[in-house]
Amino acid sequence: MRVITDMVELRAWAMDHRATRPRVLVPTMGALHEGHLSLVDRARIRAGTDGVVVATIFVNPTQFAPHEDFDSYPRQAEADLAMLEARGCDVVVVPERGALYASDASVTISESAIGAGLEGVSRPHFFTGVCTVVAKLFNLIQPDAAVFGEKDYQQLAVIRRMVRDLDFPIEIIAGPTLREVDGLAMSSRNAYLSPEERAQAVVISQSLDAARAAMEEGMVDVSTLLSRVEKQIATQPLARIDYVAGVHPDTLEPIDSVGDDGLLIAVGVFFGKTRLIDNLCWRRNLSDAG
Ligand code: AMP
Repeated sequence: MRVITDMVELRAWAMDHRATRPRVLVPTMGALHEGHLSLVDRARIRAGTDGVVVATIFVNPTQFAPHEDFDSYPRQAEADLAMLEARGCDVVVVPERGALYASDASVTISESAIGAGLEGVSRPHFFTGVCTVVAKLFNLIQPDAAVFGEKDYQQLAVIRRMVRDLDFPIEIIAGPTLREVDGLAMSSRNAYLSPEERAQAVVISQSLDAARAAMEEGMVDVSTLLSRVEKQIATQPLARIDYVAGVHPDTLEPIDSVGDDGLLIAVGVFFGKTRLIDNLCWRRNLSDAG
């Protein structure tokens, strides 16, 4: 496994290996867990034995607001590299601090529809930071495909929109959310949780499971579904809801009733200072409709 930290070296690698295809990218911020590694597995399937899997580890400063956890975000480069090597990753790009952005960088990419609600309300600069860094990684690495997790559903949708609207010739592949045994979505930020917070955080996936069951039984009223999710989360004293939203799975616009396209329920919940997100994308199985 080759580790590249210098962007000039990265450009040279991309040029030297331009004929080795497909080239499949997995962008991460490190502190890797099985969820990330499942994306590497997906990348390997897409790349095949002749292709190349490239992971990136970069805690991107431009997607953090000043009050957020950029400085304290978990960093464990050696352990991450060992995990990626064991998983058969071919190349890992770990830009050195300051290597990716010119000190007077003044061009960004912002998306104005898909990213406006949900996370965009709580984190107004987040998706501009994400789009800009992902576009830079696309330009530097020139992948044929890139894998993103459904755990960050809105991020995945924003990236798909960016790729469509800016004509990046890159296939976007989605990977399902991997969960702990009790259902909590795996996240690097779970490491911040105290034992009490960790125990209570399971309520997030439990509330989404209950919403899924209600929809399977025919419930279509979104406000009822959302208020049930809110009430269930609020049973845990350490939980503080940031948002619970029900939106169309493609447009991410609020909807009142679950239609043929289904419903995305997206939640952001604080436990102490730690903000966790999760979602349920429920699609109606039209073949069952009779
Ligand atoms: P992050 O390091 O948090 O920026 O995540 C890097 C990539 O891993 C993103 O595409 C995430 O959506 C994805 N990811 C994070 N957590 C999970 C999970 N539990 N299951 C699957 N993918 C995940």
